[in-house]
Amino acid sequence: MTAQLEKPTAREALVRLSGVRKSFGDHEVLRGVDLQIDRGEVLCLIGPSGSGKSTLLRCINELETVDDGVVFLEDTPIGHIAEGGRLRRMRPRMVARQRREIGMVFQRFNLFPHMTVLENIVEAPVRVRREPIGEVRERAQGLLERVGLSTHADHYPAQLSGGQQQRVAIARALAMRPKLMLFDEPTSALDPELVGEVLDVMRGLARTGMTMVVVTHEMGFARDVADRIAFMDDGTIVEIGDPATVLGNPSHQRTRTFLTAIR
Ligand code: ADP
Ligand code: MG
Repeated sequence: MTAQLEKPTAREALVRLSGVRKSFGDHEVLRGVDLQIDRGEVLCLIGPSGSGKSTLLRCINELETVDDGVVFLEDTPIGHIAEGGRLRRMRPRMVARQRREIGMVFQRFNLFPHMTVLENIVEAPVRVRREPIGEVRERAQGLLERVGLSTHADHYPAQLSGGQQQRVAIARALAMRPKLMLFDEPTSALDPELVGEVLDVMRGLARTGMTMVVVTHEMGFARDVADRIAFMDDGTIVEIGDPATVLGNPSHQRTRTFLTAIR
């Protein structure tokens, strides 16, 4: 570890990446990423396939370990303990505890197929956090209301549309009361007519002040909801800024080329 151990200070950082590098074999997928995400901010991450967007999210919630650099959540280096100015890897149990602060929603809904909607949502808080089932069920009902599925608590995933399943997946992540929500192309696997209902739920979540990092190709959503948009290419953040600038008047040719290609 060569990264410095200085703590996040500017603005109100919830997450900060400092010099993050990640390789798979000799392919360097993240080439020294610096990024700060403020509390309550919605950051949309765009960029071509293979540019490292998913890997970046997976490094934030420690599904991948970084090769170099540090990811801070608040002022805690994720997966590491600071010791005499150096970083030491945390024990897996501690990593798991940290990861619970971060909710993640993937492209595929991966709900437990043998459990009802309600059971899917209460599973982690009850099993992992050992919270009382009564309380958690109540919270789960409230979350189902928020995602517009209060009448579907006893349905099984197979009885739901893809859009409904994805809304359950969001409710399930929220049931752990995360500080941060990561979304990895949450609408890419959906039929076009189901995309809107999921984006609406995410829009509502943004309004509650949830800190969100959203990898998406939905430029309308990014323009309306994001506080900032980051364009990623070939393992680096090429450009980051407010939506109007990044989408309307990007300063890099690579950003322009990408935006032209997806329109
Ligand atoms: P994006 O989400 O922007 O499409 P990814 O982060 O998924 O990009 O992938 C970036 C690059 O890293 C791709 O070339 C991909 O093939 C490679 N990659 C991702 N995960 C792995 C892995 N577990 N093993 C080997 N290569 C990987
Ligand atoms: Mg991806």
